Amino acid sequence: MTQRIPVVAGNWKMNFDHLEATYFIQKLAWLLRDAHFNYKAADIVIMPPFTSIRSVEVLVEAEKMKISVGAQTVSETAEGAFTGDISAQMLAKLGCSYVIIGHSERRKYHPEDDANLVDKVRAVLAAGMSPILCVGESFEERRQGIELGYAVQQVSDVMRDFSDEEARKVLIAYEPIWAIGTGMVATPQSAQDAAGAIREYFRTTYGESVSESVRILYGGSANASNASSLMEGPDVDGFLVGGASLDAEEFSRIARLTVKSAKDRAHRAA
Ligand code: PEP
Repeated sequence: MTQRIPVVAGNWKMNFDHLEATYFIQKLAWLLRDAHFNYKAADIVIMPPFTSIRSVEVLVEAEKMKISVGAQTVSETAEGAFTGDISAQMLAKLGCSYVIIGHSERRKYHPEDDANLVDKVRAVLAAGMSPILCVGESFEERRQGIELGYAVQQVSDVMRDFSDEEARKVLIAYEPIWAIGTGMVATPQSAQDAAGAIREYFRTTYGESVSESVRILYGGSANASNASSLMEGPDVDGFLVGGASLDAEEFSRIARLTVKSAKDRAHRAA
């Protein structure tokens, strides 16, 4: 089995102005330093609102933290008369490495659908960053028992026309909508079932090598109490964390537990 580096990405949503963001990063730096956190063992990503990205980056650099910064959405267009939009090139130039695409809150409150999601993924890849494509069912699909097919279809609707090299750089976040911000969390088995089904899609579409490289995250009320058990499934490669990413202690605990779980899992598989 390929050893994939786990990812712990904090989606701050519309929280923290740039001063609060600075305070958070200082605290996180101290917590990770105190815990002798091995930055090589996981990709830690902070995804602040646009207005805090630069402040976070400056501090990450000053504190010599080996973590990445990302954005929560992006325009599919490169430039022009699109008031309020931010292009992928602008984010890349700022130093961003990841961009969330198709978060359920963006799909609900903004016109993000499968058609422009393809263009957004393309724009992010062309700018040299990695998209984190969010998929996942609502209560209704789960009630009908079609949640796995639904999530795979969402991946397929966006991903079917990319090259192997492009597909390899995409991350998928399986985020059942009913679990986001609700305190309800998928069982480790259902998180694994979804991640396994998505990896199988990559295997049949792009082949073994791509499917073994793509990182598939779980999102939906993940926290330090459930992170280890959610990481038990072999196809879950970390987390997209919302609410719990706003607490530096909780976020650093999730990062440490994710690294430990990935290591334990690798030992078990060896
Ligand atoms: C999210 O919004 O991506 C998310 C997973 O939120 P929460 O962890 O708060 O459920």
